[in-house]
Amino acid sequence: MLQENERSLIEKRLLDERKRAQDSIGHFDELSDELRDRTGELSGMDQHMADYATEQHEQEKQFLMASVEGRRLYALDEALERLYKEPEQFGLCDVCGKQIEMARLEVIPETRLCAEHAIARDEASDADADPREADGTAHPA
Ligand SMILES: [Zn+2]
Repeated sequence: MLQENERSLIEKRLLDERKRAQDSIGHFDELSDELRDRTGELSGMDQHMADYATEQHEQEKQFLMASVEGRRLYALDEALERLYKEPEQFGLCDVCGKQIEMARLEVIPETRLCAEHAIARDEASDADADPREADGTAHPA
């Protein structure tokens, strides 16, 4: 389980990375706000513009999920939620349940795998799954 100071460090890292991902995606939130402001100014076209804005928002969301940074943003949001809702569970490896190394969490705060299992998973996907590394070799907790 993370110490209080480690938890706040991870929270800060997640928020930093989230902001960075948002910046590189290109300020979708701000774009939506602009569109909303314009919708408010243009009387007489309210309904049409509101429909348009909703449609735009859906497209933005789809575009977001289709991009690497968009998915990272989603993963970061999800990690923040885990950190707030289940702080005692945060930072435990999905495979072995051990505490993920703090040094690793500082670099990839949204990770759900310890270094050992992240490497095993990467190798499995790169080398088209070595049968010796297949599931079923899980260590007892
Ligand atoms: Zn693990």
